[in-house]
Amino acid sequence: MIYTRGRAHLDTVTLEISVGEPPEQSASPVPQPPSPRLTAVQAVVTGRCNLSCDYCNVRLLGLGGKDMDRPAAERVVELAAEAPADRVVMVTGGEPLLVPETTMWILQKVDPPKVLFTNGTLIDRRTAEELRRLEVSPVVSMDGMADAHDPLRCGSWKRAARGLDLLREAGVPYGISAVVSRRNLEGIADHMLGVWKRFRPIGMGFNIVHWTPEGFHPPSGEEYARAMEEVFRTALAHGIFTDQIARRIEPLVTGSYRHRDCSAMGGKVVLGPGGRVSNCISSEGMSDWSRRTPAFMEECRGCHAAGICGGGCAWDGIQLGGDGPDPRHCVWVKRVLDLFLEDVEAGFGEGPVSREALGRRYAPLLSRDTSPVAGSVGHPQ
Ligand code: SF4
Ligand code: SF4
Repeated sequence: MIYTRGRAHLDTVTLEISVGEPPEQSASPVPQPPSPRLTAVQAVVTGRCNLSCDYCNVRLLGLGGKDMDRPAAERVVELAAEAPADRVVMVTGGEPLLVPETTMWILQKVDPPKVLFTNGTLIDRRTAEELRRLEVSPVVSMDGMADAHDPLRCGSWKRAARGLDLLREAGVPYGISAVVSRRNLEGIADHMLGVWKRFRPIGMGFNIVHWTPEGFHPPSGEEYARAMEEVFRTALAHGIFTDQIARRIEPLVTGSYRHRDCSAMGGKVVLGPGGRVSNCISSEGMSDWSRRTPAFMEECRGCHAAGICGGGCAWDGIQLGGDGPDPRHCVWVKRVLDLFLEDVEAGFGEGPVSREALGRRYAPLLSRDTSPVAGSVGHPQ
């Protein structure tokens, strides 16, 4: 029943905001995506970490143990300089602050936008001030308040919280990113709100746990969709920029088309320890994933969510969907579309709605800050 409503409203909204085609018209409704271009350079400066989190794909894929050497760090800087000006440089690990010399050397050499992904536990006052001086935007991992975070992340909540406090005191804008797993599904809205009120990040993220060859105990698509339903409602009620929600809502509000969900689908180079070069931290070597998008996947033909989807994480799609997308992704993306359409109806009633009116209502869910952490880092339109 809910899809029937969604479709009916999509027909109306489609006319006005050009989001895909109704599902009945299944003959190639998805326009060809533009050729990918380099939008992200990622430096995996170490495979080591001071924590050992439940679901960490770096640990479970066996990437650990080594650090990036100076020639590889120099290559990161060269690539960042050669890339288009709107590219983002991402410094990640393992935990990048375990190798502060390499991390800070790269961050000093490259121009913004530059984002540091960290568990936050090793941030001290000096590091926070240096990050501000270098105009670095950190994203700190936090899976909820302490009772949700600690069992998943080795009891590190207090140390991560101190890192966030030091960033705020130093005037550094930051994002907070959570992994949604079986252990923190319950009460996710309370955790989201608790973290939001306590730390006031510029943006938040809720990632589905990635596939790993062992230790993979993910929520089902339905469970993740219920969690994202809570996240959507909370973001809307409190005006919280939430990466995964913004990626779906922006095409609906602006009339644009989300062709690819991740820069790893042809727009990213990842350099790591031991001379490792790939398009995604999880994969080995440069794989061409540019066709893992709704325009090319048979499963997506006629899907009413194709305009907002981008195909999801290509790595998870390969592991869990074969030639098609990650089926968990499809469930929650369609749920968010339904919720949006229901909200449009509740807010505006039946009939066409102007893009301006949509823009006003949903502006709090869209990026409204120039900081890269108020956007989808590594997942551009
Ligand atoms: S990936 Fe799933 S939700 Fe996205 S367009 Fe394809 S079938 Fe639809
Ligand atoms: S494809 Fe993108 S979202 Fe998926 S694991 Fe790789 S970098 Fe992450």
